[in-house]
Formats: sequence, structure tokens, C-alpha cells
Amino acid sequence: MKKFSIAIHGGAGTLVKGMMTQELEAKYKSDLKAALDQGYAILNEGGTALDAVEVAVKILEDSPLFNAGKGSVFTATESHEMDASIMDGKTLNAGAVSLITGIKNPVSLARDVMEQSDHVFLAGEGAMKFAKELNYTLEDDTYFYDEFRHKQWLEIKDTDQFQLDHSTKKDSKFGTVGAVACDQNGNIAAATSTGGMTNKKWGRVGDSPMIGAGNYANNKTCAISCTGSGEFFIRGVVAYDVACLMEHKNMSLHDASEEVINKRILEIGGDGGLIAVDAKGNIAMPFNTEGMYRASKTSEGEEAISIYK
Ligand code: ASP
Repeated sequence: MKKFSIAIHGGAGTLVKGMMTQELEAKYKSDLKAALDQGYAILNEGGTALDAVEVAVKILEDSPLFNAGKGSVFTATESHEMDASIMDGKTLNAGAVSLITGIKNPVSLARDVMEQSDHVFLAGEGAMKFAKELNYTLEDDTYFYDEFRHKQWLEIKDTDQFQLDHSTKKDSKFGTVGAVACDQNGNIAAATSTGGMTNKKWGRVGDSPMIGAGNYANNKTCAISCTGSGEFFIRGVVAYDVACLMEHKNMSLHDASEEVINKRILEIGGDGGLIAVDAKGNIAMPFNTEGMYRASKTSEGEEAISIYK
């Protein structure tokens, strides 16, 4: 049987070590494991990489620990504006949404954009109209509320600051989520979902829903989901850059993703990380921050769930 594999992340950068209690660490790991196991089960039953990444991301969106879906950070107007994307490496089909509110699982709406519309990227009011036409039920604000996120916002709400979960402030917590997978047929897929950055305004959108920046999949090269300082990841076209190094410079998955995260994106000032798979089931998970919530599992029995380096 061909090797298959899945990797997931819950954001780069982490609570600084002193703030991470044993209980909290155990909770992070158990939510990561739940997402990993359900995604892996789909692959194990012969399901598609696309289904596996959607299911894994949905579970992470449902966890209040991560900055996506439930537990998304607050905008300058004390609301939530979420972004998500998904891409199928077999067909190069992709779907993305940004600035959406009230949707429990943004990644599923992104998949619906891919499968139920002729478009790739829907934003704001229009994306919400599309969701309404597909009979999505809307959750109210209390569903997304997380005390920790609210506290983060209260500290900077009347300032012009916006806070990426990636800063090294003592109370910083990270949390964009993502998954990449390679299925038994050697097809790969990637999905990414986020609440963005605390206190964001003006319709700010980061890299997560942008195909090529925060998310990309192509069977020829790799499937990638990023987390990090979105403005830099957009300028570095990070996900596609890894694919380009593989395609045009013949680099391995490991070398290409290391080069982008630990060299090219650092050189322009970006911090963060990514998870990657190729069509042979290889996995890479580089990051240039103190940690990255991450987990991976392959059909050869390798399994890892880690936070710090
Ligand atoms: N990349 C995300 C953004 O800029 C944030 C994150 O990864 O935590 O919106």
C-alpha cells in the first residue's frame, strides 16, 4: 500500500513556557490528537485527502483553544471576522472565504465556494449571502466568545495596535489552524482557517485565505498550510514559494520548506511556520518561532504531537 499521511497545526508561536501549565498543555495536545486521529481515520479508510483536511480543521475550529471558528480573536469592533481556504492538489480546485461572521466552520464554507460556485474567493457580505443561500445556520457571538481572547482585546482595544498571536508578549497565544494530507492514491490537499489578528480593522485580511500565500496544494509538488505574520506571508507568497523551489529547483519537501521558513521569510522580517506534505507522504513542519502547535501521523506508524522545539 502507498504511504499516506496527515499533518496539522494550531498556530506558530506559543504561550511562553512559564505560562503554559501542565493541564493546559495536555488540553492542547488532546485537541490536536482528536483532529489528527479523525483526519487519519478518513485516510485509513481510503478516503480523500480533501475530506481528511476538512474534518481535521473543523475539529480545530470547534476547539476554543485555537484562533479559528470558536475562540477566534476579536476585531476592533469587538466582533469576529474569520478567513479560511481549502485546495485540492489533484485538480487545483480551490475555495476561500474572508471576513465572514457567525459561521461555525469557515473551512466548510470555503469548500462550498470551491464545489458549489464558479468562484475561488468570496468575501464579506457576499460570502455571507452565499452561505445564506446554502442554508448555513448562523451562530450568535456568544458561541465564538472566549474569555482569554476577550482579555487580549481589552488590553489594546482603544489603541491603534493590532496584535498578531505571534508576538512574544507574555500573554500571547497563537492559533490559526491548518491541515495537509496525502491519501492512499497519492492525492494531496491543504486547508487553513483563522480569526486573524486581535483588534484588526479596515477589513484586514491575512495570508490564511489567500491561495499561494497561506495555503496551496498541487500533486506535482506539495500541500502547504501556513501560520505566521500574515502581511509577510502574503508578500513572500510563502506556500507557493515552497512549491516553486520544489518544481523549479528540484528541492525536496524538507529542504524547500526549511529554506522558505528559516531563510527567505526571515530575511523579510516574517515569523511563523508551516506544515507540508508531498504526494509520497513525506511531511515537513518547520517554524522560526519559539514553538508551533503541531501533530503528524503516517501509515508507517510514525506519530508526533508537539508544541515547543
Ligand atoms: N496568518 C494569520 C493571519 O495573519 C495569523 C496566524 O497565523 O495566527 O491572519
